Amino acid sequence: MAGVPIVWDRLRSYPSNLSGSCQRREPDLTTSSFISPAKPAVAIIGGGVIGLAVGWRLSQAGCRVTLFERERVGAGASWAAAGMLAAASEAEPGETALLALNRHSQALWPDFARELEAASGLEVGYRDEGTLVVALDRDDAARLRATFDFQRGLGLDLDWLSAAETHALEPHLHPAIAGAIRGKGDHQVDNRRLVVALAEAFRRAGGTLCENAEVTGLAVAGDRAVGVRLGDEVQHADRVVLAAGAWSPRLAGLRDWLRLPVRPVKGQALALQMDAAAPLLRHVVWTGRVYLVPRRNGRLIIGATVEERGFDGGLTAGGMLALLDGAWRALPGCEELPIAETWVGFRPGSRDDAPILGPCALDRLVLATGHHRNGILLTPATAALVANFVLTGEIAEAMQPFGIDRFNPVTKGF
Ligand SMILES: Cc1cc2nc3c(=O)[nH]c(=O)nc-3n(C[C@H](O)[C@H](O)[C@H](O)COP(=O)(O)OP(=O)(O)OC[C@H]3O[C@@H](n4cnc5c(N)ncnc54)[C@H](O)[C@@H]3O)c2cc1C
Repeated sequence: MAGVPIVWDRLRSYPSNLSGSCQRREPDLTTSSFISPAKPAVAIIGGGVIGLAVGWRLSQAGCRVTLFERERVGAGASWAAAGMLAAASEAEPGETALLALNRHSQALWPDFARELEAASGLEVGYRDEGTLVVALDRDDAARLRATFDFQRGLGLDLDWLSAAETHALEPHLHPAIAGAIRGKGDHQVDNRRLVVALAEAFRRAGGTLCENAEVTGLAVAGDRAVGVRLGDEVQHADRVVLAAGAWSPRLAGLRDWLRLPVRPVKGQALALQMDAAAPLLRHVVWTGRVYLVPRRNGRLIIGATVEERGFDGGLTAGGMLALLDGAWRALPGCEELPIAETWVGFRPGSRDDAPILGPCALDRLVLATGHHRNGILLTPATAALVANFVLTGEIAEAMQPFGIDRFNPVTKGF
């Protein structure tokens, strides 16, 4: 690749004087170790999976990338998630475009995980046992059959299991369950390991990671974003990527240019600790009430509430009760397990539950937000599509349905 080796102390925007900690490592000269002067310098706002993955891809491509994270990487929804990659099991009516993107990203996941593990030297806990959507009783089974017919009609790779077949796969499920939809392709990843691996891969590719560095506003010249503000300081960049999750619309100055229809959708969740050598579950299991996600280390994640409470970060008795009751109805043996952790996260929910990707009214500001309940699943596709847009200015076909202009009543006719 044509380019010049990184000379960090000569870069004008090397943010060594920020109050937060900036971590950068000399990149591995045998891999993508060159920053091309022809490639844009990029500032990324937000160190969740989306910002990190976009940053990794752009660094690999030779861009000078600085990522600003207000707290520590993964402080937002990316740490709170369950890591399900459930394109098929979660398919709902009226989400045709989103389903296509979800399936595209799901197909990218196995190679993405392998590449990331090689680039970071860290495991991401990718598991491919699949997902079971379980019917707890005969009424449930009748409802689930209708869902199954709808999802199969979309061409999704799902099959129906009898109660006996379901128990053969997961013997600790409640004896009264009446069957299940199996999604063999709906895998999972350990989202916390994913965050750590993405941060490491980003650094190894030459990216500069600034934690405890809150972007307080956009730097704008005319109708163009020219960087980001951190208090009194301006960090110049040729492109700014907004990947601040549920906090994206709060960025000072943004509302002069656009109204970002993103809001926090609160989710309470908890983890129980199973015996890793004799886990109660191996598949991801859904019921109509909760999902259960077993990790290799024996953690069993139970999630999640869906609440419209703004940024209220409090756990509630009702939330925990609903999760534990829902888990117990599917997996009675869980009542003996110790509670390992409880937490709250904020999904970046958009008005139509689909991500918002690409350009906007402010030139050179690129949006990568609004991933709602699918941000982990959508990480590989978002990273590829947004990085491609930054590099080429092209809006790839897969990205076209997800522009901010779909919310514009003038151009969209609603
Ligand atoms: C309980 C729960 C369960 C979920 N389960 C799944 C699942 O199983 N599968 C799935 O695909 N998705 C799941 N999701 C959704 C997924 O977690 C999100 O869609 C995804 O993490 C969004 O990533 P992000 O990088 O856009 O946002 P975030 O991870 O929220 O990252 C945004 C970051 O920006 C930082 N930030 C904000 N403002 C600023 C600023 N001004 N300056 C600098 N930094 C800033 C924040 O501190 C934060 O770290 C779940 C979410 C929740 C809450």
